[in-house]
Amino acid sequence: MVDLHLHTVASDGVLRPREVVRRAARKGLRVIAITDHDSTEGLAEALAEAEQHPGLTIIPGIELSTDIPRSEVHILGYFIDYENAGFQQTLAQFRASRYQRGERMVQKLAELGISIPWERVLHFSDGGAVGRPHVAQAMLEAGYISSVSEAFLRYIGRNGPAYVERQKMTPAEAVSLVRERSGSAVLAHPADIDEGELEPLLDDLQAVGLAGMEVHYQGYPPELVGKLLAIAKRRGLVPCGGSDYHGPHGPGELGIGEVDVPLETAHRLFALAGRRLELTA
Ligand code: AMP
Ligand code: ZN
Ligand code: FE
Ligand code: FE
Repeated sequence: MVDLHLHTVASDGVLRPREVVRRAARKGLRVIAITDHDSTEGLAEALAEAEQHPGLTIIPGIELSTDIPRSEVHILGYFIDYENAGFQQTLAQFRASRYQRGERMVQKLAELGISIPWERVLHFSDGGAVGRPHVAQAMLEAGYISSVSEAFLRYIGRNGPAYVERQKMTPAEAVSLVRERSGSAVLAHPADIDEGELEPLLDDLQAVGLAGMEVHYQGYPPELVGKLLAIAKRRGLVPCGGSDYHGPHGPGELGIGEVDVPLETAHRLFALAGRRLELTA
């Protein structure tokens, strides 16, 4: 019924926002959040499409990419006042840095004997925030690899020879950015963070207003969900989650709404935003 983590072509998702909303409606979902990397460019189209589907409510969201020394940390922001000019300027700057970083990865790949045209990467990014999945798609198209995950494993993963870091914001800065714009900040896919680093990170982030943590997530087995749920409860964090859907590609990838997130979570996020979730139909 609820999926709070979805990507569109505004970042590295495959589907247009309109199509993501249609598919969610067709599946009978009640609440979804569009959470593109460093971009809110897909929200207008998603919200417009949602008017055709009275049973479905859209939470405007974003996923901000940040780093700590040993792990990548993603912060989701819900109900941000995203039209704010300063906020948009910050996002545009992060997207510009993603563009340059993409070009540098293509250069590094060329030095490794893998020549992919930058134009193909841009083709796959389709005007949205450029990400490593677009580089991987161009490599796949050119036949250098046989799957997107192979690109990450051998070349553009964090420790790969063609990896280039993005302009970085700290996780606390991302939480603050969301809070400054009246949004609720949620730590995404916490299992990506090294075991011993999660609790100290949560201490830091709760000090600047972290509201929730993903608990239900693609591939998280019940024991892990239980463990994360206990941490969220103990800390008073809203247990959130979603599929992190990027589009109908890749074996084993889940579809929209295929991770069970309780409706209660959506109610709590609405309450934090000072709104009431009214479900019709
Ligand atoms: P970027 O934001 O450009 O650094 O790219 C990060 C995105 O790449 C993530 O949000 C995932 O969508 C994708 N990604 C990260 N690691 C992998 C992997 N091992 N296999 C496939 N996709 C991945
Ligand atoms: Zn992504
Ligand atoms: Fe993420
Ligand atoms: Fe994501």
